[in-house]
Amino acid sequence: MGAQQVRDGFAELYGADPEGVWAAPGRVNLIGEHTDYNDGFVMPFALPHTALAAVSRRTDGRLRLHSADIGGGVTELRLDDLAPESDREWTAYPAGVVWALREAGHAVTGADIHLASTVPAGAGLSSSAALEVVVALALNDLYGLGLKGWQLARLCQRAENVYVGAPVGIMDQTAAACCTDGHALFLDTRDLSQRQIPFDLAAEGMRLLVVDTRVKHAHSTGEYGKRRAGCEKGAALLGVDALRDVPYGELDAALARLDDEEVRRLVRHVVTEDERVERVVALLESGETRAIGPVLTEGHASLRDDFRVSCPELDLVVDSALAAGALGARMTGGGFGGSAIVLTEAADAGTVTKAVEEAFAAAGLTAPRVFEAVPSPGARRIG
Ligand code: ADP
Ligand code: MG
Repeated sequence: MGAQQVRDGFAELYGADPEGVWAAPGRVNLIGEHTDYNDGFVMPFALPHTALAAVSRRTDGRLRLHSADIGGGVTELRLDDLAPESDREWTAYPAGVVWALREAGHAVTGADIHLASTVPAGAGLSSSAALEVVVALALNDLYGLGLKGWQLARLCQRAENVYVGAPVGIMDQTAAACCTDGHALFLDTRDLSQRQIPFDLAAEGMRLLVVDTRVKHAHSTGEYGKRRAGCEKGAALLGVDALRDVPYGELDAALARLDDEEVRRLVRHVVTEDERVERVVALLESGETRAIGPVLTEGHASLRDDFRVSCPELDLVVDSALAAGALGARMTGGGFGGSAIVLTEAADAGTVTKAVEEAFAAAGLTAPRVFEAVPSPGARRIG
């Protein structure tokens, strides 16, 4: 799917050429899971998979939406009718962005939008944020709003939180908006300060594989909410604004103050995970890239045992990859299905992939989708 195809699709639907074509990527998170709603650290990088949008302005207060990936025709909405949680379909993502822009006082008067995406939906690779950010960037450019990437990310998060009704953190939208080619994004989710960390595994003879388990367990949304609530409870009990404020060096003392074993586990995961992000950044910046492998694996154990958001399929990817000689592996994204990442020597990538596939076959599971993730550009205009 390229810019020309999306441009042609737009012309066929709406009877005129679009004013432009934009792209925004999916992401994987290298390390820093379930930290973004605790004001902590994350480290995503952009995938080559992107959502594309061909877009033109309108002046009549109407919004027309179409996705090449969803059966069905064009959805037409009036901007004045857009209201939070009024839409349970995919159209809530792009419509929510338009709603959030207008809510923030930006004079958006309508749009025709045609979307097409290569980001697998529901695989923990953030297809939803790609969709939001590509629409936000297109409207930012067309309406000359002058918003920066992090500002677009905030608006997109608001669209997803309030309009769609999903209580997600800020990582996915910031990754889609702000990642750059060849880098991972070290992001402080409290103030959105960020550092681009060079991350070129191919040059060092390594590969990062993404394994989409193709499962999504139905209870994921409810469990996500419970974890968030548990983290907020932990912060309140410890008298801090967010778990990010519990220093790693004071973790044991903090845990000793908590009676509730469930809350204690959540706190331990978040505080140690923030420390792991900082450790990975330090290792990458000092050129000790291979040494991040065990840190990723440690992160998985913490998500599995303390935060309890893994699932048998994700554990199977990690265990089978490590047994086949991978340098490190962990689930990525919210958990309960979705994808895992595997760091491996380039020379071992084939063996590791085969081992994971065989483990899935032996367990009678649907074959996973395995691909190599190369750090790719963030949102941009492409036509
Ligand atoms: P993730 O962001 O991890 O892929 P989400 O559940 O947050 O999973 O978002 C997936 C939803 O995003 C889909 O159910 C659909 O509503 C919407 N979506 C993703 N890609 C597309 C697309 N190409 N066209 C239309 N809607 C899409
Ligand atoms: Mg999403």
